[in-house]
Amino acid sequence: MRATATFLAIVAVLATVACSTNPVTGKSQLDLLGEFQEMALGAQLYPAYIQDSLGAIADEALQGLVARTGEAVARVGHRPTLPYAFAAVNEPAVNAFALPGGKICITRGLLARLESEDGLAAVLGHEVGHVTARHAVAAYSRRVLATALLLGGAAVMEAKDVQGRELITLGAVVGAQLGLAHYSREQERQSDRLGLEYSVAAGYSPLGLVETHRVLLELQKSQPGLLARLFASHPMSSERLAAAEAAAEALPADVRGREKRVESYIRVVQPLRAVRPAWDLAHEGRVLLAQGKKREGAELLGRAVQQAPEEGVIRTLHAVALQQLQRPQTARSEAMEGARRAPGVFLSRLVAGSLWVSEDARASLEQLEAAEQILPGVAQVSYLRGRANETLGRRDAAVAAYREALARDPQGEVGQAAVARLKAMGEA
Ligand SMILES: [Zn+2]
Repeated sequence: MRATATFLAIVAVLATVACSTNPVTGKSQLDLLGEFQEMALGAQLYPAYIQDSLGAIADEALQGLVARTGEAVARVGHRPTLPYAFAAVNEPAVNAFALPGGKICITRGLLARLESEDGLAAVLGHEVGHVTARHAVAAYSRRVLATALLLGGAAVMEAKDVQGRELITLGAVVGAQLGLAHYSREQERQSDRLGLEYSVAAGYSPLGLVETHRVLLELQKSQPGLLARLFASHPMSSERLAAAEAAAEALPADVRGREKRVESYIRVVQPLRAVRPAWDLAHEGRVLLAQGKKREGAELLGRAVQQAPEEGVIRTLHAVALQQLQRPQTARSEAMEGARRAPGVFLSRLVAGSLWVSEDARASLEQLEAAEQILPGVAQVSYLRGRANETLGRRDAAVAAYREALARDPQGEVGQAAVARLKAMGEA
């Protein structure tokens, strides 16, 4: 993510087609990524995917539970020595996904709906199954070039010049998210089997997988909009629920009879459950914004803020909606509130840095520095630093920042906007 050069290196590696052994099947498999490249690619993409999912949830107890549960199922799997990582992210839609090399995310929307640690173990075991069976590698080998282009270019976030002022409309906000692997039905079935095997071996109840499928099927009836992304990458069916029930039924009585860990789980996810209605509204609002329904989207986001004023990321999404409605003053104060309450979230820092760039360049620079720390290498951050430095009359710093923006996004809109500024300053 840091530089295009890294991606060119990955692309060069991809040009050498490697043959490797699949850890689950033991069969030799022709794919484009060797294990070392797989781990390097996953590690490199992970921070961007976490931030594209609205950042990690600032809750140590919750992150601890997710990491412990994930490690427990991964260590009894077919690739126990991979450098796994598990993150709970702010995305309100229901989803979980694995990047190559064992980097896994589970969303707030799913965590708030599961009912036990055993359900969590089943979900994480399923994702670990995609990793051990190297499904993601096959999928990402096909997709990696597109993803590399996405990250290197302006597609993560799109800069637009509206009425002579740079307004950042965020692809990440309005749903143009980073690509995820798409799995076949057979791969889904295999991951369900592996997830069950791993979670049972780690001491969990086999009913965790049954619980997960039941929760998802019920949600499909009541709030299908929350599942759109999950279904895009994970084909679902009531057949998988039936398969989970049959597989649990086939296990020995002492395994079947294991108690699910319900109370300890509920205690940890209680804060998420308390704000779930607000996040559901925020999700709907974001979908409306993506459809160009600015007023309706802003209204739902405003209601979400009223319900959960302490949720910084929702404040940030509200700020974006207000800015789109041409209400810059309220948008600015909401953006600052978002950054104050969600200091570790790239989007919150970027939106604050963007909306304050003409108003208070020093405050803007502070936010942009924080954004750069959280997710280095994003062209928009460099470009906005250029704007802020120009406002402050720091010509050399502005030129350097625009050159950096161009280096980070040589083909895209942000790079072109940087070239325009450099020309205006007589530097290009
Ligand atoms: Zn899956």
